[in-house]
Amino acid sequence: MRKIIVIGAGFAGLSAAARLSGMVPDAEVSIFDKKETVDFLPLLPDIIGRQLAPEFVSSPVKNILSRRKIKFVREEVSSVDLNSSQVFADSRAHDYDFLLIASGSQTNFFSDAKAQSQAYALNSVNDAKGIMEALRKERFENFIVCGGGYTGIEAAGSLWLFCRRNGISARVFIVERSPGILGALPLWMKDYIARNLNTMGIEVLSNSVIEDIQGTRVKVSGGRVFEKAMLIWVPGVRTADYIQKLEVKKNPQGRIIVDEYLRFRQNCFCAGDTALFEAGGVPLGDVPLRMAVQFSIAEGALAADNIIRSLKGKKLKKFIPQDLGFIIPMANNRSCGRVFGLEIRGLLPTLLHFMMCIYRAFGLKNKIGLAAGLIRSCFAAPK
Ligand SMILES: Cc1cc2nc3c(=O)[nH]c(=O)nc-3n(C[C@H](O)[C@H](O)[C@H](O)COP(=O)(O)OP(=O)(O)OC[C@H]3O[C@@H](n4cnc5c(N)ncnc54)[C@H](O)[C@@H]3O)c2cc1C
Repeated sequence: MRKIIVIGAGFAGLSAAARLSGMVPDAEVSIFDKKETVDFLPLLPDIIGRQLAPEFVSSPVKNILSRRKIKFVREEVSSVDLNSSQVFADSRAHDYDFLLIASGSQTNFFSDAKAQSQAYALNSVNDAKGIMEALRKERFENFIVCGGGYTGIEAAGSLWLFCRRNGISARVFIVERSPGILGALPLWMKDYIARNLNTMGIEVLSNSVIEDIQGTRVKVSGGRVFEKAMLIWVPGVRTADYIQKLEVKKNPQGRIIVDEYLRFRQNCFCAGDTALFEAGGVPLGDVPLRMAVQFSIAEGALAADNIIRSLKGKKLKKFIPQDLGFIIPMANNRSCGRVFGLEIRGLLPTLLHFMMCIYRAFGLKNKIGLAAGLIRSCFAAPK
């Protein structure tokens, strides 16, 4: 019997599992994940700002796979030996004929031990719950968000909304190392978001870094010290530790460079945030395909198709990404984005983002719970 191992039960891994289930009768398909649940990451900021119930933002992997012929192994993968075709988890070796790596990305603390132990990450439902617990226990006067990318902007907005809804007069800052926020986004979006942040009273400290953390005392370069501060750490992501050890072509974040079939070895595929897709040796438009749910799902499905094709001795299919667009959701409902090539701003992109989240959420109970929570919050949100 042939063995197929998928590492990671997130968007990419579960999309692959759906494709593989029942399609290869003479193969055993196992999916490994270190967690029992799959988290719907785009809604993490809304657990804080819109007070979404965390139970609607994650689902047990077992329930999702209940009708599929897939074995779920709840173990953390610690290493992969590409030469002997073995995956190591809980110190046991598992042989594979085909491997699909789909273990996403995790918070990058850039070897800053103080940040790792004292700052709050926002990359899982547990992280969001940890932030909520701290907010319930302690009265913070300052919220410092380290990182001015999409997640940083959303986190800052959500903290602003949390304060507003709970009558807390705290200040929110975004600390960004580079001269501006949101990297390579079009100028109109950056301007729109900057005006938005300004309206919410969120201050951007550009060309700045976190210099020191002493519990709730945070020192930012330029001599600014914030007392009673909560530090949210979202300056970037990297791939899992076991990938750092793999001797394959990767970028500095540890994303594995895949070919047009999403392969990085004859029998090994990679999809989702862990994969860095290149077309014809040149990254798409000189910028690698961004980390997003739509690409993770599409890549997972195509990688699975290509495993099935390999088993059947058929020609592999090339990955041709279809970009539907993207939205930067804002906590004050003034979002912006480009959808099907159209530039949109205001309440419409906010609603479209939430419709996408409800559509993609796992399970009917979660869809209903999210729809109720999000609709309520959209129309109750302060202007
Ligand atoms: C706060 C936030 C907001 C976002 N907002 C948006 C948005 O609005 N729109 C959008 O398109 N994208 C958004 N994203 C990005 C999007 O969530 C990711 O691109 C997507 O989740 C990637 O899917 P994936 O399957 O590659 O990885 P994931 O969904 O991260 O799944 C990876 C899985 O692998 C497991 N895993 C990791 N390491 C191991 C290991 N060693 N052993 C076993 N299992 C392991 C993890 O537990 C996880 O379940 C957001 C991300 C964050 C963090």
